[in-house]
Amino acid sequence: MDVGRIVKVSGPLVVADKMGAARMYDMVRVSEARLMGEIVELRGDQASIQVYEETGGIGPGEPVYITGEPLSVELGPGMIESFFDGVQRPLDGIKAKAGDYITRGVEIPALDRERKWDFNPTVQEGDQVQAGDIIGTIQETTIVEHRLMVPANYPAGTIKEIKSGESTVTDVIAKLETDDGDYDITMLQRWPVRKGRPYKEKMGPHIPLITGQRILDTFFPVAKGGTACIPGPFGSGKTVTQHQLAKWADAEIVVYIGCGERGNEMTDVLLEFPELQDPKSGEPLMKRTVLIANTSNMPVAAREASIYTGITIAEYFRDMGYSVALMADSTSRWAEALREMSGRLEEMPGEEGYPAYLGSRLADFYERSGRTVCLGNADREGALTLVGAVSPPGGDLSEPVSQGTLRIVKVFWGLDASLAYRRHFPAISWLLSYSLYLDNVAPYFRETIGEQWNEMRREAMRLLQEESELEEIVRLVGIDALSAKERLVLETSKSLREDFLHQNAMHEIDTYSSLEKQFAMMDLILTYHHEAGAVIEKAEIDLDLEQLFSLPVRERIARARYMPEEKIKEMEDIKREIKEQVAPLAGEGGEEDA
Ligand code: ADP
Repeated sequence: MDVGRIVKVSGPLVVADKMGAARMYDMVRVSEARLMGEIVELRGDQASIQVYEETGGIGPGEPVYITGEPLSVELGPGMIESFFDGVQRPLDGIKAKAGDYITRGVEIPALDRERKWDFNPTVQEGDQVQAGDIIGTIQETTIVEHRLMVPANYPAGTIKEIKSGESTVTDVIAKLETDDGDYDITMLQRWPVRKGRPYKEKMGPHIPLITGQRILDTFFPVAKGGTACIPGPFGSGKTVTQHQLAKWADAEIVVYIGCGERGNEMTDVLLEFPELQDPKSGEPLMKRTVLIANTSNMPVAAREASIYTGITIAEYFRDMGYSVALMADSTSRWAEALREMSGRLEEMPGEEGYPAYLGSRLADFYERSGRTVCLGNADREGALTLVGAVSPPGGDLSEPVSQGTLRIVKVFWGLDASLAYRRHFPAISWLLSYSLYLDNVAPYFRETIGEQWNEMRREAMRLLQEESELEEIVRLVGIDALSAKERLVLETSKSLREDFLHQNAMHEIDTYSSLEKQFAMMDLILTYHHEAGAVIEKAEIDLDLEQLFSLPVRERIARARYMPEEKIKEMEDIKREIKEQVAPLAGEGGEEDA
């Protein structure tokens, strides 16, 4: 192994010379403590190394071992249900080996070398295969079938040997005969984290990722394979929203990256996640989840790596043909790590001290999303959806990370501190947020839910926008200046906000609404709006608006969100009641009022 020599140490940055044999992004081991590092700059034979462990006590003259390999992740069964740190060391493994405090330089393989997995081949000896073809499966957890693929960098060939049954991840379970010689296949594969995994083709996203969160699904849907961001100030609900997505989004695999938001926060996730249940299968949610967590005692540089570690794992499951959702909480912390390294590298700073390449790094990350045709001859389809939280200081979206992210992602879920302050949750602003997938997913909603879905959505959005304009008038000249029709707009919008958009993540029923339920709820609110509107048109001047707005059925509309999924048919009764109660208020029915 080639060895360089440290000339300078500055926090997570180590500069070494005699590094001529190394390449950019190679992994190195720093000093006799063998700290893990990655080359981030090469000038002649001098290398700048980003070190993923504390560098205290390390000084000039000490050796740097060049491994000749890029920073890579291990891919194979055993990833699901695991907690990894930013460089894929299993956190529970480290704890067992090194105690509560992570000792430096511990080398623990990401995937358990002892554990045996039951491998079921799906091809036979003599079969022709190529990169990406599935050659067998492993039941990784009760809900995830791990599909073993011919490694993406192998040539096509013939299966020479394949064996079923119990093996460890490093046992050779198949041999591939190619023009290039024989290749061994194990359940373990490696892939460099900074390089996107290959696929055949990217396709336009057109199926929404259903999240059960009404404001997201109905108003600002993200497509499977799409990108979304949630910027918001501290305490506005980024983490709750990300957790709701991790719990409810209809993805088969969830990769959750906690970039060390606050000291204890990641610990909360670590404690909370294993207790959550998958609402569909009743199984623990961890059985479809990979957690990457940077705990607070890890240096910032590890945050930088965690994004890449997470996305490479996510791509691997996408390649198996799964729909994968990746949440990163928060990308601001990742960008801060970039900034710190860039500062130490003495690069020319861009806006607010972030490196000039911040934007392109963000783009590189989000571009790894997509709906893809996977490698291999089966034309499997996989999808990788990316959702990044952004925590702009003071909630100011003009800062570089928010701006850089907004330029790339197609969905913006903007959290609004004033909504959170009023305890309107999720505090996602319906006036600021947007989804650029609306046209892509409109046919899906039309076909699966109903013709009127898109029209209803448009009408509801229009009402909410009108509300904000009317509110301005009310503020200036008082409610009396409004016509009966305008007052109805305010009433309906209030109902949209309080009975539809407001959704309590902590309530056992309200926490999730199926699309059918969302549709039925919206239908109730708009039916009331239309019926009441018709009455206002028809009625004589002395129509009692207070009475119209406080009909008993409105309470039933408000409580529809607490209706269990299996009872949503009963919303038809409420709809009938709306008509029965509203209609008599028109004109001649006046004497019934008393
Ligand atoms: P952030 O990550 O942006 O700092 P959190 O996600 O921790 O904010 O949210 C702060 C608090 O707001 C939560 O502890 C919770 O009480 C409340 N909250 C946020 N979203 C919801 C929701 N959808 N339903 C109920 N409460 C919520």
